[in-house]
Amino acid sequence: MTKPLLEIKNLHVWFKVFGGILRVLDGVNFTVMSEEKVGLVGETGCGKTTTMKAIMRLLSMPPAIIPKGEILFKGKDILRMNRAELQQIRKEKISMIFQDPTAALNPVFTIGTQIQDAVRFSGKSGRKMKKDEIKARAMQVLKEVSLPDQERVLHNYPIQLSGGMRQRVCISMALVSASELIIGDEPETSLDVTIKDQILRLLKELVEKHNTSIILISHALGTVKNMTDKVYVMYAGTMVELAKTKDLFAHPLHPYSKGLLAAIPRLTGGGIGEGIDGHIPEYINPPKGCRFHPRCKQVMPMCKDKKPPLFKVSEKHEVACFLFQNFGGDCIDK
Ligand code: SF4
Repeated sequence: MTKPLLEIKNLHVWFKVFGGILRVLDGVNFTVMSEEKVGLVGETGCGKTTTMKAIMRLLSMPPAIIPKGEILFKGKDILRMNRAELQQIRKEKISMIFQDPTAALNPVFTIGTQIQDAVRFSGKSGRKMKKDEIKARAMQVLKEVSLPDQERVLHNYPIQLSGGMRQRVCISMALVSASELIIGDEPETSLDVTIKDQILRLLKELVEKHNTSIILISHALGTVKNMTDKVYVMYAGTMVELAKTKDLFAHPLHPYSKGLLAAIPRLTGGGIGEGIDGHIPEYINPPKGCRFHPRCKQVMPMCKDKKPPLFKVSEKHEVACFLFQNFGGDCIDK
């Protein structure tokens, strides 16, 4: 059987703050295979970005603590890598595209300086590159993200580019560093509605062309549906459902996934669905048992005591909800 490219096992991330401990990630499991396009959805504050930052070891520790869990990249635990190994992962294997390209780019350096630095440190050539080779590579990646007049763009400062152009620059820098996995953390969020779709389509084309895996976090569920092979639904620091994309959108099983999909506005009739009452719980004192139980209309007494494990309802469809307990799984007392 093929081994996963990335495997997160039982990841817990807490934050020590004044007044207590925020227990944000509560046993996250997540797998990405080589060349797979994986979506991660859930409402704001459910722990998506925390999970991705943990992969890149970008969480400030303290206040973050990782009391349990593993993040295996090709079988090796990123959480236990030394500085040199981690640098190699960031330079050559995994890169991240952030929500806001304006904040991701340094305003006091030209685009040319920033991309050429990324090329110089990427280490993909396996040797020290000459100045003209570095520039040629920078021009090439700018061309790949469909930015015209690359020579001029190299001399521009971030403020001289539009939001869409800045995000294309960030994608080009991710291409320079990542040969195996790109993490797109809502790469379309801060863009104009007319540009969002172009950027996401570009990202899809590029990962397919370079045979790179991608984890796409997005609130644009329609885009996730069109772009990914598999989707994870996250709620309050736990994965509540995972399935092939077409199965999840056709037959969501978890009450939270159903509510999330029902909230997509439909232009063809039906308007906006009911949505889900309530909000994400306080992480300082999260609900016992199923973290969704205070908002769930199908809550049962056992949901308030035990944390539901993932029940496998078919080969590639798993759901963490006691409504599916006939499919087997081990309950976790909580
Ligand atoms: Fe609702 Fe219980 Fe399922 Fe949680 S486990 S989603 S509370 S039915």
